[in-house]
Amino acid sequence: MATSLDITVYRPASHSALAEQDLIAAHAVIAEIDRMMSLYRPDSELVLLNAKAGQGPVSVSAPMFEVLQAANSFARRSGGAFDVTVTPLVELWGFYRNDRVVVPPQDAIEEARRRVGMDRLTIDAAARAVALARETAIDLGAIAKGYAVDRAIAELKARDVPAALVDLGGNIGVLGARPDGNPWKIGLQDPRKNGLIGSVSFNAGAVATSGDYDRYFEHDGQRYSHIIDPRTGWPVSGVAATTVIAPTAMAADALSTAGFVLGPEAGLALIASIPGAAGLVVGTDGRVAVQGTGGVTFELR
Ligand code: AMP
Ligand code: MG
Repeated sequence: MATSLDITVYRPASHSALAEQDLIAAHAVIAEIDRMMSLYRPDSELVLLNAKAGQGPVSVSAPMFEVLQAANSFARRSGGAFDVTVTPLVELWGFYRNDRVVVPPQDAIEEARRRVGMDRLTIDAAARAVALARETAIDLGAIAKGYAVDRAIAELKARDVPAALVDLGGNIGVLGARPDGNPWKIGLQDPRKNGLIGSVSFNAGAVATSGDYDRYFEHDGQRYSHIIDPRTGWPVSGVAATTVIAPTAMAADALSTAGFVLGPEAGLALIASIPGAAGLVVGTDGRVAVQGTGGVTFELR
């Protein structure tokens, strides 16, 4: 998934050998999801699925199906701001290879935009199959890391791990309560300089952050970052980062991307509509807007 992975397992000191096995098992679960959902592996299930666009229904694995169904639901709830068919636009803007230095011509943006839209993905639940329209392709970069974190946490739970934290590139899931009795506390990175803008504390669930500082290029003093508004075909401007706390890491991942596209007002309204979700949006002007929920505490500097 082209990102960092940190897994922390809490076991009594006498069980350190068991903890090592836990780490191996959780790591294996994430590696398996990566083999299915990566766009960077020529033989991943996702790449093979994309290759069959325009060729009718394709049966998919249960994990792929679960993620595509969730993606479909977040697309609907976000009014199309979250859209895993955004691939042609991400490609046009150069974010798969980070090789673009100027803005593409508007007619190329329009051409790519015609190949984007969740109406180009048909899901058949009874057959566990999906069909992609011609020249459409799926990118799970905004949701699969969260899904992988949920699966790793489920694996650790099944192994009777009392407490754990899994951090896959800023998608963080927790299991159980922290052994020291304090809530889980995650630092919120300042999107423009080293250091934190604050922290968020919570007892259970997951946190995800989307930022304009991971992957971007600059042209004429303007920053163009890797999260694209599928409704315009242009990279989102005005938002520097979004962080979402949600009951699952998959929801936190999808909602942080959706909130980034929607911006502070509509983004936080979407988060408020999801039970157990909270979040914040940091504007490129440094302004921070917050939406809380029970059990989640934000501390801002
Ligand atoms: P995240 O870091 O979770 O916000 O995911 C960002 C990645 O998702 C990008 O690098 C793209 O690969 C993809 N992406 C970009 N824009 C969108 C969008 N509007 N909806 C869904 N995925 C997107
Ligand atoms: Mg995301």
